[in-house]
Amino acid sequence: MAAPGKLAFFRLPPLPTVGELIKLYNLRAEKHLSQNFLLDLRLTDKIVRQAGSLRDAHVCEVGPGPGGLTRSILNAGVSDVLVVEKDTRFIPGLKLLSEAAPGKLRIVHGDILNYRMDRGFPENVSKPWEEDPPNLHIIGNLPFSVSTHLIIKWLENIANRTGPFVYGRTRLTLTFQKEVAERLTASTSSKQRSRLSIMAQYLCTVRNCFSIPGRAFVPKPEVDVGVVHFTPLVQPQIQQPFKLVEKVVRNVFQFRRKHCHRGVEKLFPEACRVEMTQEMMQKADVDPILRPTELTIPQFRALAEAYAHFCTHEPSLLGYEFREELRLKNLARQRNKTTDTFTAK
Ligand code: SAM
Repeated sequence: MAAPGKLAFFRLPPLPTVGELIKLYNLRAEKHLSQNFLLDLRLTDKIVRQAGSLRDAHVCEVGPGPGGLTRSILNAGVSDVLVVEKDTRFIPGLKLLSEAAPGKLRIVHGDILNYRMDRGFPENVSKPWEEDPPNLHIIGNLPFSVSTHLIIKWLENIANRTGPFVYGRTRLTLTFQKEVAERLTASTSSKQRSRLSIMAQYLCTVRNCFSIPGRAFVPKPEVDVGVVHFTPLVQPQIQQPFKLVEKVVRNVFQFRRKHCHRGVEKLFPEACRVEMTQEMMQKADVDPILRPTELTIPQFRALAEAYAHFCTHEPSLLGYEFREELRLKNLARQRNKTTDTFTAK
């Protein structure tokens, strides 16, 4: 019975250990699904604590696998957990967990990249964007094979308030390869500053919580792992369409060791490249000889705004990709060469 004055908290009853379950169901890790399991429940508890209080929360867990992290989430006083797992072999073990936590665990056998999370939770979970975040969390020891793709997709969802963010500023607590975690949270002028740093930080408060050595996983991956927490900002630091921001940031970072104007140039067709770049740098008031890693988010904002201005006047500019122009030019050059050879004969 709960001590007087204290709320009774749900705890899972005694169960086979995660290691025993792996043996019981013969769950050999599949490399192509980036399966590296966490069997130490103190570690999974520590990951779950990074999400903050989960009392009565709704949680979506990505890739529960044998369910170690799922157990820690269930023990944190949540209202319910929805798990999305691609590998059928884990479903029986998850069903066992579901029986031990009646009404608390929903199992979806599917791919997180296609799963419609905007339909996964009741509407009353929602909180207006400008208010505190909803009591809804995404937590996952992500498969490395999808983690970067997934976070870019979710960042775009944040910008458009779609997917898991139809409920408001849903928080995320996720693992990444340590280097990716460092890029996501890198500040101006740091060596790890990259496209991911800008894309994540213009939309979210991002915190690199702690690192987990590779040896804590079974099987041991080649790399260490970082746990990162994201809270979407009420007001994004750049107020331009996600695709436009992504294009500007991607182009600027493609020559990360060169002066930033070199990347900016590639936003424009060759015929007007030099003049347009000069005009854009002046309009944004950004020093063209700064390196991409030295640019602050307000400077990226100024660049995105200047580029958006050009795109309003010349809408075809937004679809321009310098690699495509280069490809067509090379193709034409090759065709001319072939024609010359035939004429010479
Ligand atoms: N959460 C477990 C743990 O911490 O021990 C397993 C983590 S393991 C790194 C990644 C899990 O994600 C595996 O169970 C794998 O089958 C699953 N997975 C891989 N790709 C997935 C996808 N596209 N959608 C859903 N689950 C996926």
